[in-house]
Amino acid sequence: MTSIAHTPLGPGREFDVIRELLQHWGARARGIGDDAAVLDVPPGQHLVVSTDTSIEGVHFRSGWLTPREIGWRATTAALSDLAAMGASPLGMVLALVLPPAFLPHVGELADGIGEAAAAAGTPIVGGDTSRGDTLGVGVTVMGSAAAPVRRGGARAGDHVYVTGHLGGPGAALKAWEQGRVPLSEHRERFAHPRARIAEGQWLAAAGASAMIDVSDGLAADLRHLASASVASFEIDLSLVPAVVGVDQADAALSGEEYELVVTSPAPIDVLTFRARFDLSLTRIGSVTAGEVPALRCVRDGVVVDLGSGYEHF
Ligand code: ADP
Ligand code: MG
Repeated sequence: MTSIAHTPLGPGREFDVIRELLQHWGARARGIGDDAAVLDVPPGQHLVVSTDTSIEGVHFRSGWLTPREIGWRATTAALSDLAAMGASPLGMVLALVLPPAFLPHVGELADGIGEAAAAAGTPIVGGDTSRGDTLGVGVTVMGSAAAPVRRGGARAGDHVYVTGHLGGPGAALKAWEQGRVPLSEHRERFAHPRARIAEGQWLAAAGASAMIDVSDGLAADLRHLASASVASFEIDLSLVPAVVGVDQADAALSGEEYELVVTSPAPIDVLTFRARFDLSLTRIGSVTAGEVPALRCVRDGVVVDLGSGYEHF
């Protein structure tokens, strides 16, 4: 049985911060205040767990995003990994590292986290709060699925699809790095990505053989699918759905999109998908046989070398 009520917290400044978080979350937080959270996994389902860290100066700069957007984005990035498994979220725990100068903004950060949790219909069930020199938000998400969709299931002959339109986050980052103001449509895609939770479950039920969320960039994430599946991918760049004002090659290199890439042996009904989610699902290519996993991009019949996506090190 998942407990709902909080356990009262003792006195102290750390607990004052936690109380402030709880005030902002209201019913979005559940069962906080014990040593650990207790969750129920539906009978016959697997527990699916992922963790994701957002560090100021590495994943975002505070001048680019409001505290609320930082909270939304960090939480959505973590939830997106559950989406990519076709899992249904059960709860999340948060590791917050807060510089003292950031404390006046903790409520706004909490609001962004709470809104993303609410959008996914999942409760905040615990966490850890620490002082530190750099703002950090670590989000661990737990979900369940009867048959999680993994990266390794793509086979030669499968169709390859991507949700939504790519390129916004990459274009926003490029603008900021060049000292320009990004187009609001591009900034919005960076600041307010969506975790495609319901879409991921729908795609799993529709027969997805492999799935991944676009965090490093379409090209880089296709290479991850290729390696995991020991297969090759052939993508037609002219089919890649790009946001307005972004070239399709740039769209294929834009990271932190949190759209889903999915493979399927049978064609997926893209019209039903679009009607259901008000989101496009676009066929961009196919899986081919390949002893050495590779990504081949063509545009108008000509092979294009896209280079690699974002690398942390
Ligand atoms: P412990 O000493 O057992 O690690 P803490 O004193 O760190 O517990 O936290 C007290 C309670 O508050 C725990 O239930 C913990 O899950 C919760 N908590 C602490 N920080 C956060 C946070 N940032 N978000 C959500 N819950 C938190
Ligand atoms: Mg603790």
